[in-house]
Amino acid sequence: MASAGFLWLFSIDILSKFDIDAKQPFNYEKFQTLCVQLFSADEVKENEWRVQEIFKLFDANADNVLANEELFRCCKWIHMIMNPINILLVIDVQNDFIIGTFQKYGFKHGLEVVEPINRILKEGHWDDVIYVQDWHPENHISFFDNLAMRELDPKSEVTKETAKLFDTVVFLQPPLTQILLPKHCVQNTWGAELYNGLLILPSSKRLHKGQNPERDMYSAFEKDEQSSIKLEKLLSAVERTFLYVCGLTYDLCVKETCLDGLQLGYPVAVIEDCCRSIKPNEKTTESYIENGALVTHSNRVLSLVNEQKHSLVMAHQAAKTANKH
Ligand SMILES: [Zn+2]
Repeated sequence: MASAGFLWLFSIDILSKFDIDAKQPFNYEKFQTLCVQLFSADEVKENEWRVQEIFKLFDANADNVLANEELFRCCKWIHMIMNPINILLVIDVQNDFIIGTFQKYGFKHGLEVVEPINRILKEGHWDDVIYVQDWHPENHISFFDNLAMRELDPKSEVTKETAKLFDTVVFLQPPLTQILLPKHCVQNTWGAELYNGLLILPSSKRLHKGQNPERDMYSAFEKDEQSSIKLEKLLSAVERTFLYVCGLTYDLCVKETCLDGLQLGYPVAVIEDCCRSIKPNEKTTESYIENGALVTHSNRVLSLVNEQKHSLVMAHQAAKTANKH
């Protein structure tokens, strides 16, 4: 643990950036003034409850003043918000989702994400970009063509004889409820390649998901055989990493990735205009918001990552994480 002197000097330094004298008691009113500068007056006004909740999270002894260790933790949070590591996750922008299998079966909107995603790739100052690819073996459990390979649970309402594409069945071994999909994104085939109109940044990373034949995986935070999460290994410390997520589809893989990220403590923004749903539904957006994600537009994202602007919603999530560790 750093010395009290260091904690104090760090806090003075951070607060001085907001013209706040650290020698005066740092109460809620001062915190709110600081939040107006850090975020914006409008955002603070509309989401006052978040400001109150964040203050409470730091005010461990509930005396309405942040002092010593409490003040230091709060200042560390401010420092983190002002110096985030911004990561862009591009989910499943692959041939099969854009011009291959799924387009053939009626998902016609994949192509619409390419242009807005290319814009944020080109114009955003990203610390890292990770392209996530659905990457299945030939014998994958989600493929309708592989239905004969595994036993169904006798309780499965849909039987092997009656099953049609996009029906949901229950497998016996492994015990799993699964929607039957057309064969898609098979490893090392054209369908699994990133769409060739998608901009690939030179120093970016790739991550494959769905490689286990016995499991379907929608989230990029998939656990590997050793039960560690592969995506986490590519990211910096959860306290400092802000995730921006786009791609396909808004109601499945993008969503599951965002919800897992939030669960692990990352501040998460989903870039709505850079996503498309299989079945558009208001409830999808609600579930992002309820779980603490920022649902936003690419213009706002560019101002967050390029112009040192900050989001209160993401900062709120960061405050929860900071107080968990
Ligand atoms: Zn898949």
